Amino acid sequence: MENEISEKEFAVPFFKENGFTRKQCECCKAYFWTQRPDEKYCGDSPCVQYSFIGKPPAKRPYSVHDMRELFLSFFEKNGHTRIKPYPVVARWRDDVFLVGASIYDFQPYVTEGQIPPPANPLVISQPSIRFTDIDNVGPTLGRHDLIFEMGGAHAFNYPGKEIYWMDQTIRYHHQLATEEFGLKSESLSYKEHFWSGGGNAGPDVECLCDGLEISTLVFMQYKVQGEELVKLPIRTVDTGYGIERWAWLSQGKPSAFQVIYGSVLDKIFDMASVKFDEKLVAKVVPVSSYMNTERGESRIDARKKMADALGMDWRELDKVLVPVENAMAVADHTKTIAFLLSECVVPSNVEEGYLARLLIRRTYRMLRQLGIEERILDILDLQVNYWGGDFPQLKDMRREIAEAIKSEESKYRRTIERGSDLVRKISSDLKAKGQKEIPSNTLVELYDSHGIVPDIVREIAEPMGVQVNEPGNFFGMVAQKHLSGKRASDEEGETEVAVSLKDKVAELPETVPLYYKDPFQKQFQGKALAVIDRKFVVLDQTCFYPEGGGQPGDIGVLQTSAGPVKVVDTQKAGRVILHQIDGKPPRVGDIVQGSIEWDRRVSLMRHHTGTHLVLGAARRVLGKHAWQAGAQKGVESSRIDISHYERITDEQVREIERLATETALQDIPVESMWLPREKAEQAYGYILYQGGVVPGRELRVIKIGDWDVEACGGTHCTRTGQIGAIKILHTERIQDGVERIIFAAGTQALRAFQEQERVLKGISSAVEAPVEKVDQYVQTLIEDRAKLTKRLEELGIQWAGQEAERLLRSSKKVGTVKLCQGKYTSGEENEIVSLNNKIVEEDPNAVTVLLLVKDSARVFVGAGKQAISHGVHAGKLAGKLAAIVGGGGGGKDYFGQGGGTNTKAADQIIKNSESVLKSMLTK
Ligand SMILES: [Zn+2]
Ligand SMILES: [Zn+2]
Repeated sequence: MENEISEKEFAVPFFKENGFTRKQCECCKAYFWTQRPDEKYCGDSPCVQYSFIGKPPAKRPYSVHDMRELFLSFFEKNGHTRIKPYPVVARWRDDVFLVGASIYDFQPYVTEGQIPPPANPLVISQPSIRFTDIDNVGPTLGRHDLIFEMGGAHAFNYPGKEIYWMDQTIRYHHQLATEEFGLKSESLSYKEHFWSGGGNAGPDVECLCDGLEISTLVFMQYKVQGEELVKLPIRTVDTGYGIERWAWLSQGKPSAFQVIYGSVLDKIFDMASVKFDEKLVAKVVPVSSYMNTERGESRIDARKKMADALGMDWRELDKVLVPVENAMAVADHTKTIAFLLSECVVPSNVEEGYLARLLIRRTYRMLRQLGIEERILDILDLQVNYWGGDFPQLKDMRREIAEAIKSEESKYRRTIERGSDLVRKISSDLKAKGQKEIPSNTLVELYDSHGIVPDIVREIAEPMGVQVNEPGNFFGMVAQKHLSGKRASDEEGETEVAVSLKDKVAELPETVPLYYKDPFQKQFQGKALAVIDRKFVVLDQTCFYPEGGGQPGDIGVLQTSAGPVKVVDTQKAGRVILHQIDGKPPRVGDIVQGSIEWDRRVSLMRHHTGTHLVLGAARRVLGKHAWQAGAQKGVESSRIDISHYERITDEQVREIERLATETALQDIPVESMWLPREKAEQAYGYILYQGGVVPGRELRVIKIGDWDVEACGGTHCTRTGQIGAIKILHTERIQDGVERIIFAAGTQALRAFQEQERVLKGISSAVEAPVEKVDQYVQTLIEDRAKLTKRLEELGIQWAGQEAERLLRSSKKVGTVKLCQGKYTSGEENEIVSLNNKIVEEDPNAVTVLLLVKDSARVFVGAGKQAISHGVHAGKLAGKLAAIVGGGGGGKDYFGQGGGTNTKAADQIIKNSESVLKSMLTK
């Protein structure tokens, strides 16, 4: 697609007016624009090296904060509206988990023209997270980072409403860089490039100064369809100003991390007693791109190349640099973790929770190498203080961040304990096969499925003689599998029925949903517009709610001219509501009377509104991180899944129940309103999307006072008082990081109480104790039972001893062995087995035949050591004797058992055992 760029496209008037010429880089062959007539190179690394270290070219040094402000206010002065940053978790999208650039904020609804942008043009500084280079964060000493701020100045050009395009975009950039920031005009180069990503594409200009790319100006104007580029109706100016990079350029420090993290980084160095040799780092930074291990090269090989380039011993260099690299990566990662956790991400094994956990584990690993594993909370606290002024949600969530980390730490320790055995087994299996190294896909698997990082694998495997050679891009490989995917949602999409009928309803008008106007309307009149497959009736309007958002479809009756017909389900296909019937369908054109099964529906509404109340209560009791991860409303009970890092305690359950019920009884109005998506987001934030991403230009928002607000399409009570009581029936952990709460509302809550009361009264009368004392009483019973069990065991042992003696005394000599026989009509099998054991232990020459005759006859046979040596096989003997009572048996030589149902023949066993035993003896 490179050849799609034509020279003309980039030859904007600005370049001509200002004496820029187009040149081809002698190193990378790319075209670039410069004011220096004899320039040979594009200005990008590796074609040229950084030349600003120690020689900052800007007017003055800028901190990240000051740089952000310079950027935002410059564009504000130039007609752009300043927009607050969006969250880093892309809750409004179902294709990616994290925001990787400012344009993500406006995809897909704005860029595809479904909704207008919040302002046009606009300017924003958007914290963004990219996992692709995770393994380079640290080793390249600041060239790569996970979290960064992208300065986005965006203009959305609609047909007939042009804001500005390439020429003006480059003018703004140049003006900011020279007049405001103080770069010399001729020090800037603009390199031609073609950008493609996320299904869109367009030409872009990379802006370079002193070897550093400081901005990328993208002109998004195509949709990528296979090999083809299709022009988009909306052309978007998508600029990315690297706020941290501009600040770095202005300070000229050897590492960007020094500029970004300032005192935080110094404190991490102090904690770990790392000596930061700025002169050495300044020497290393220009060649730090050797450490870019994107292609899976080993870290050691990369280090050797770096040392060669500097003419140093690689081991010496490694020893000095590794702690510095680790401390820098810790600074970057802990900021990222703080941002993620402050946005209610709960570390888990799915979605952004997976990425958060990966980061926490990688951070632990580096802290461990630095010898300050226990300082993670202190470092997070430094980050919260350092960034909390610009990003107040960090301070708001300080407690939740700390709690999540503590819980994650103990989980990690358990994981290591469990995983160690697995690593030992894998290592010994490999060794047995003659292999000397753990393959890298096994390393990835060990992390991905069992949570064990390569260091732990190494600690266990290497002493066993199995090597661990971790690929340089290990974490990138692991993260890659989890960067995108579909977010779990209550909006499960369309049901099967809906999908199969979509074509058949395409021509029909939208059904008027009466349930939104008045959720308490029970009956209505409608005109039959179509009958599909004799099973689905479409009316012009309806009170029947179609399945969606975790709420089941309504059932009820349609009265037609031919009589009543049952509605067994309601579904929605596109904009059309389908009543699935069981019976004779109405004729098209008929006027029908519909009535919904009200008891069921009102219970569903109580449970639905109740779900919103329980969620609000859970957020207040467990913490603000507790987000809805799924919900299903039912008639008898409902469930809601909530992200939380620990099991919910009984005390918390009671508190959630109490808060939810109290809120219900406050009789707060439940407001439902349709709002344009952007208005709803501005007013309530992304907490709207707790139930999952909701499609469409307009959102239906359900707001319950200041208790809860969500985008939701369900039917609701109009006031919370209609719910009545809320009773949590139980909670369970459905996956790591997700708790399920099952509760009942209204009459069903009462029913739950009544059911529990019935059980309690049953117990109370069985144990003959009053209800209010039944718990103490049962406790006493349990204690008594334990005493009795113990006493019974003692008696059993005593009995077995005496009985063994008795049987040995009355034993019969059969050849060389002693036959001990007994028949019992009460007692337990285990008692008989202990009796047998006692006898054969006492006398190795003994053979036992013990019968337990109750509903059936069981026979137990034992043989002492000596008896076995004389040819006795207890299992075989048991088989033969069991045949007498009409059954079978078997076992080992020292013990066997069997039995049959013919209890009348039991005495026959006693009579016959002597002769059967005799036939077995060899001497
Ligand atoms: Zn070049
Ligand atoms: Zn809802």
